Amino acid sequence: MSGQDTFKILEKIFKPKNKTTEIQGYTIKYGHIVENEQIIDEVLVSNFKAPKSYTTEDMCEIQTHGGQFIVKKILELCLKNGAELADPGEFTKRAFLNGRIDLLQAESVIDIIQAKTDKELKTGIQALEGRLSKKIHQIKQKIMDVMINIEVDIDYPEYDLEEVTNQEIQNMLRLVYSDLNRLEKSFDDGKLLKEGIKTAIIGKPNAGKSSLLNAILQEDRAIVTEIAGTTRDTIEEFVTVKGIPLQLIDTAGIREAKDEVERIGIEKSKKMAQEADLIIAIFDSSKELTNEDKEILELIKGKTAIIVLNKTDLEQKITANTEEISNSSEYIINMSILGEKGLEELYNTIKNLFSFEKINVDNNLTITNVRHKNFIHKALEGCEKAKEAIENKMPLDITAIYLREILENLGNITGESVTDDILDEIFSKFCLGK
Ligand code: GDP
Repeated sequence: MSGQDTFKILEKIFKPKNKTTEIQGYTIKYGHIVENEQIIDEVLVSNFKAPKSYTTEDMCEIQTHGGQFIVKKILELCLKNGAELADPGEFTKRAFLNGRIDLLQAESVIDIIQAKTDKELKTGIQALEGRLSKKIHQIKQKIMDVMINIEVDIDYPEYDLEEVTNQEIQNMLRLVYSDLNRLEKSFDDGKLLKEGIKTAIIGKPNAGKSSLLNAILQEDRAIVTEIAGTTRDTIEEFVTVKGIPLQLIDTAGIREAKDEVERIGIEKSKKMAQEADLIIAIFDSSKELTNEDKEILELIKGKTAIIVLNKTDLEQKITANTEEISNSSEYIINMSILGEKGLEELYNTIKNLFSFEKINVDNNLTITNVRHKNFIHKALEGCEKAKEAIENKMPLDITAIYLREILENLGNITGESVTDDILDEIFSKFCLGK
């Protein structure tokens, strides 16, 4: 619970074992939740006194036994005694509205909760700790420092400082542009961390698609998550293998093919290949290339594709030297899924292809949120307009309009100039109780 009535409500439902001491912040009390003198559960209650809490309001957290029923019962008891049910993200929203964190930090809470890889988690923590906010504030400060001079120029035209100020603005714009540009570029890495490399496994029936899929999934038993695909009957699966996040496209298709309900035809492969950042095209190397194989080889030409020559434990009919194969991709891996050979090489090839090792989230700030990216992009456009205004010898107050536009866009990221609609949308993505 959070808010000024927290302890009033708590008092009605919680009987601490040690009644003598006043509730103090940063303490845990042991006792019972009671309703009409009857004990509901034995609990621990953590207390936080305003302003030293997550929301900056008085807060308490009741730790109960973990059953569904008991949690619901205690929640109902709180509601009956005057509490109101929090909206999704309401605790974090209050922390933002009360000024403890900015919007960027609030949003990073969702990223942390939803993180699927170590690197993604690290970028979330960085944002929560305010490193990204600090960078945005530094950029804004550079602009504001110059804005002050513009105001002076506009107010005292007799001093004729316009030339000097224009020079100053241009220098500032160069710095701001390069900072923002670097942040915008980092989004591609951020997106990769967040969404994973969209990967399609294609190949004709019996090449070994589902065996490969299972081998990959096995590496990551614990974390496999199913994501509903764009159409109703596709399933995307998110896995991390050796730290590489992969979003496997249409694994349902592969599974269905296994049940012979529907073979993945060349048309479907085409569609998957179009969507993918990476194609893994798998062939049965113990058989001569068929027309279907050749169509697949045509399909992957010019795309980011890895060719897997599977079943190398059997006698080879095709190799990396087979012309059609070597013509279609420079990444060719000999594999025997049955013999557990070649998987390691596959992962290393993916790592290198996407320079995954080079994404250095420790030293570089990485944008992972598309909302932030869009405002950074708009701010960059503002920089260009301001630069043009100066080059075209526009009056200073015109340039000032564009500079304000940049500030406004950056303010949308940290939350100073954000509208209620946007706030509602951001916090609706949270789960209850966060
Ligand atoms: P899909 O139709 O492309 O999904 O192919 P499957 O994964 O179902 O594999 C087809 C058949 O090939 C199955 O009987 C597998 O056990 C077999 N298979 C898969 N990988 C290998 C391999 O590396 N060596 C051999 N000898 N057989 C394999």
